[in-house]
Amino acid sequence: MTSIQHWINGAGTPGVATRTGPVFNPATGRQQAEVVLADPADVDTAVAAAGKAFESWGDSSLTQRQRVMFTFRELLVRHEDELARLISAEHGKVIDDARGEIVRGREVVEYACGIAEALKGSFSDQVSSGVDVHSLRQPLGVCAGITPFNFPIMVPLWMHPVAIATGNTFVLKPSERDPSASNFVAELYAEAGLPDGVFNVVHGDKTAVDAVLDHPDVAAVSFVGSTPIARYVHERATATGKRVQALGGAKNHAVVLPDADLEFAADHLTAAAYGSAGQRCMAVSVGVAVGDAGDALVDVLARKANEITVGPGDAPGTDMGPVVTAEARGRVIDAVRSGAEQGADVVVDGRELTVPGHEEGFFVGPSLLDRVTPEMDAYQQEIFGPVLSVARAGTVDEAIELINNNPYGNGTAIFTGDGHAARRFGREVSVGMIGVNVPIPVPMSYYSFGGWKDSLIGDSPIHGPEGVRFYTRNKVITSRWPHTSRTSGAAFHFPTTS
Ligand code: NAD
Repeated sequence: MTSIQHWINGAGTPGVATRTGPVFNPATGRQQAEVVLADPADVDTAVAAAGKAFESWGDSSLTQRQRVMFTFRELLVRHEDELARLISAEHGKVIDDARGEIVRGREVVEYACGIAEALKGSFSDQVSSGVDVHSLRQPLGVCAGITPFNFPIMVPLWMHPVAIATGNTFVLKPSERDPSASNFVAELYAEAGLPDGVFNVVHGDKTAVDAVLDHPDVAAVSFVGSTPIARYVHERATATGKRVQALGGAKNHAVVLPDADLEFAADHLTAAAYGSAGQRCMAVSVGVAVGDAGDALVDVLARKANEITVGPGDAPGTDMGPVVTAEARGRVIDAVRSGAEQGADVVVDGRELTVPGHEEGFFVGPSLLDRVTPEMDAYQQEIFGPVLSVARAGTVDEAIELINNNPYGNGTAIFTGDGHAARRFGREVSVGMIGVNVPIPVPMSYYSFGGWKDSLIGDSPIHGPEGVRFYTRNKVITSRWPHTSRTSGAAFHFPTTS
């Protein structure tokens, strides 16, 4: 049995803890490795290594940091195939989907390659006679990341390249379900010339997370995961004075107006609902059919859902892999059952699907529920699986009201040819990331990513300019270089300019 270890101070280590957790291959349902689960002492070792490394890395030149990022970016390109296979084997997603998350994560590294531009301060000449002011942003120290299973490389890449390029050191606690990609990344950083201790990986569960949240030498915590844990992390880490980014769950609606091209809209809804078996924070889980778009849309969606090829993520021609665990599969099946019991029409039922040769795998087929209403459990839960619910709305206003009444506000989309309706939708909807004829509007790395309401606890979106702000502190320096012969004695009034 392979044992997946921590990566601390530039080397793999089993740490001192004796607990381990299973890592499954979701396509076979069999355990393929075990991962060590850290004790607080292991977290302490990693934080100490990161603290020591910060003494020199925090003072490194922008040129040195950018060079490491450029090389790291090249290594991510060179090893894309191996990484994609590693991700697929532990997560279950299809290889092309894994490649997609590597590319989107790599874009954050590309942003970090230009960190010198993002870190430019400002300068004001002669704010008073002989006095100048300039501002600069400095790193915080040891920063930590706690990440979910569904994007084992992209979500950590939203964090550590920005943290490291701005001069911080980093301790990553990835999901214990698919931990290997993080160790691979640590090796690539080492090959790229990143000094030991700047990037560390500690594997673990709640015990490790709590040790990070309570650690006095951790300055900032970036969290991405489900809303209850995001709320917990935010409360506990801010209580010990840390900065916190805490991104939570989602229930993303895609609105289809009657004038939309239904084939186009349905293609995009299908891909956004069932891609990665629905395990994306920006997955479309609710289609809102407006006016008489409903029946025709559901017909096209059903046809497309039935055409999806489900199988192992590394098998050629597979559109959709398994879900991550047996529990996740059970949750999806329960959601479809409760939808049916509470009055939804089960138009496509994926509950009974089996994949020949992979009968023990965590497979569940695509399901399509129609006439879903807000009271139903299937609407209220973040199912996080391949289930697309269709709700009906009489008007755009009703669609906007439905979305605004939902506690989540991560992403949403509208499909229409009507610019006026699209503009109004974008302005009135209480959601952080909005697509117009774009189903999964994940912002580019030079913007920042973050939802509203229960999809983001606190006020710190991730990566891009907000990431730079999060991982640095501003300093404003007011300076005067007087001629000693021109001193005019002590003045006791509050200083003003002249
Ligand atoms: P999760 O909340 O179960 O786990 C996230 C992290 O928290 C993991 O590292 C896990 O080890 C840790 N954790 C779990 N339970 C904990 C506890 N009780 N105390 C302390 N730490 C704990 O999430 P997941 O199942 O891995 O990922 C799926 C969730 O992540 C979905 O809700 C999805 O919407 C969300 N997500 C959100 C975004 C976003 O950008 N908003 C992106 C990706 C995923």
